[in-house]
Amino acid sequence: MDTVGVLALQGAFIEHEKILASLGVKAIELRQRQDLAKSFDRLIIPGGESTVIGKLLNDSDMKNPIKEFIDNGMPVFGTCAGLILLAKEITNDTARHLCTMDITANRNAYGRQLGSFYTESNFNGKNIPMLFIRAPYIEDAGEKVEILSVVNNRIVAAREKNQLVTAFHPELNEDTYVHEYFLSIT
Ligand code: GLN
Repeated sequence: MDTVGVLALQGAFIEHEKILASLGVKAIELRQRQDLAKSFDRLIIPGGESTVIGKLLNDSDMKNPIKEFIDNGMPVFGTCAGLILLAKEITNDTARHLCTMDITANRNAYGRQLGSFYTESNFNGKNIPMLFIRAPYIEDAGEKVEILSVVNNRIVAAREKNQLVTAFHPELNEDTYVHEYFLSIT
């Protein structure tokens, strides 16, 4: 049975742990570099503030080892800020973070008024609840990227080999479909 390492520097990591627990999956928190020596098979990068998580990744010396895990094929799931951290390009930010996924993220893409909203829409063929909180969207995606969800003509979920990203927050709903999808990535 897999163990999931949840990056726990800032943001909504506890909510991911709760979903994993409800699925009977073990999670460990990754808070400092030493934690990366523990045994885990998958990685979740939660929502929060990408600038803050990015800075903490650098300061804690966790950025390069995590990048290596992903480059070596470890399944990773980035939600919201996690999507921004994985993106190779970010339209409206000078910072770049892990840069492992061939997507261009547009940060805080829905403007102030529409910063947060709830909808139900199709993810990989299933209708699921989607909560967007000052979310990014995917402005551009490379050839090898599979589009899993489009809402209001914007790409909000995608996969490239071992990497899965959603602009919305599946950890904030009861529905476990996206986490189950992530856990099925081999
Ligand atoms: N707006 C945040 C950022 O730029 C992401 C918001 C979220 O993760 N809910 O990092």
